[in-house]
Amino acid sequence: MSLSPRFPTYTDDEIIEWLTEMYVSKDRSLVYIAQKSGIDKYKVRRILLKAGVTMRPRGQHTEGLLRNGERQCKSCGAVFPLKMFSKDKTKTAGRGYRCKTCDNLRRAWVYVDEE
Ligand SMILES: [Zn+2]
Repeated sequence: MSLSPRFPTYTDDEIIEWLTEMYVSKDRSLVYIAQKSGIDKYKVRRILLKAGVTMRPRGQHTEGLLRNGERQCKSCGAVFPLKMFSKDKTKTAGRGYRCKTCDNLRRAWVYVDEE
């Protein structure tokens, strides 16, 4: 039986790889990963620990927000002051994850795609 009810065809190794990628590379929270995978969040944590992943301290799901108040852009990876990110009340610190430059580029691409 698969570890994850959402991915019945995945092997355990593939699921562990996916969980690690979500947590480490994509900086997702345990709760988010638990929802996406259908695996209990405590079990997700146990699996990650067993896989040798260093867990972030509780409540430190920062979404690119750095301690000095700057944020790392999810898209280009550059670090900017928060004011360089568009206002978005649904996100941590009330600002979006992409810098304004990336946001504008993305909008331009969406526009091109629609034509
Ligand atoms: Zn950017």
